[in-house]
Amino acid sequence: MTSREIRKNPFTGEWILYSEKRQVRPDRKESECPICVGSEEVPSFTQPLQIDNKYPTLSLEGEIKRYKLGEFYEKMNGYGKCQLVVYTDDHQSKFISLTPENIMSIFEVWMNATKESGKNESLRYILPFENYGSDVGATLIHPHGQIYTFPFLPNDVQREFDTIQNYREKNRECMVCNYLSAELDKSVRIIFHDDSVVALIPFHAKYAYDVFIYPKRHYNYLHQGTRSEFNSFIDLLPKVINALNSVLKKEVSYSLSLHQAPLNTSNSSFYHLYFKLHTPQRNPSSLKFLGAVETSTETFINGILPENAAAKLRKIIM
Ligand SMILES: [Zn+2]
Ligand SMILES: [Zn+2]
Repeated sequence: MTSREIRKNPFTGEWILYSEKRQVRPDRKESECPICVGSEEVPSFTQPLQIDNKYPTLSLEGEIKRYKLGEFYEKMNGYGKCQLVVYTDDHQSKFISLTPENIMSIFEVWMNATKESGKNESLRYILPFENYGSDVGATLIHPHGQIYTFPFLPNDVQREFDTIQNYREKNRECMVCNYLSAELDKSVRIIFHDDSVVALIPFHAKYAYDVFIYPKRHYNYLHQGTRSEFNSFIDLLPKVINALNSVLKKEVSYSLSLHQAPLNTSNSSFYHLYFKLHTPQRNPSSLKFLGAVETSTETFINGILPENAAAKLRKIIM
C-alpha cells in the first residue's frame, strides 16, 4: 500500500508532499537499467516517450479529495501525476549530446503533457524537469526527465503568480516583459540573447549560477511558441550547461525546469514562461549547502554577485 498525502502548513499556506512508498525505492545497479529498450517500462523506442513513475509521489488513482480537519489540519489525497520522460535509447548519452531533433521531440512530449493535463480540472500546475547528476539526487543514469503535475499551485509559483497578477492589474503590462527590457538595457547580467530568447542570471539570484531563459515574446505555454523560438531554446540550453561545466571546471549536477502558466486558471495569459537552470555547484570545488540561515529564514547567502557570474558565462557563450 502506498500512503500519499498533500498537507498544508497553516502558518505559511505552503503545501508539502508525503509519500511513504518512496522510502522503499530499491537501490539499483547500473546494469539493471529500468528504462533501457527491452525493459518492462520501455519495450521498444522510436522517439522520446513518457511513462508513469513506478514509485509516484502523486497519482491519478481515484478522485481528488480535500479534507479540513479542525482549525489547523488541511490535506488532500496525493492526487496528481509523476511521470518519466525517456529521452533516447542510448543509455550512455546525455541531454547536452542529443540532436536538435531529439530535443524537439522532448519539447513535444512536454507540450502534449501540458495540453493533456489542462483537460483535467483538478490539476493546477505542471512542471517538466530534469535532475542530472548525483548532487541533485538523480538515481537513474539513462538520459531522462520527469513531469510532476500538481493539484495545487506550488509555493514559489503561487507567490510569483500573485506578484505578476498584481503588477498586471496596476500597470496593464507584463512585469516579466518590462523586466527583460530593463535587463537588456543594462546588459550586465545577460548571458546571451538573440531575436527570440534571452538568458540571464537575475539581479536577485539565490544561487551562484542560476540561469533563467525567457522567450522575448510574451506567451504562457510552450505550445504557443514558434519553431524559430524552439530552435533558439534548443541551441541555447546545451550551450548554457556546457558553459556551466566550463566555468565550474567539472561536469556539474543541474536541474532544468520549464515554468509555464498555471493550468485551469482564467488568468493564464498574464504569465510569461521561462526555463530555469539551477546548479548547486557554487565554485569548482564546492557545493552550496543550505545552512541555518537558509533553512530557517529562507534568506540566502550567495558568494558571487550575479553580474560577475553572468560575465563568466557570457564570455563562453557569446
Ligand atoms: Zn538505460
Ligand atoms: Zn511578458
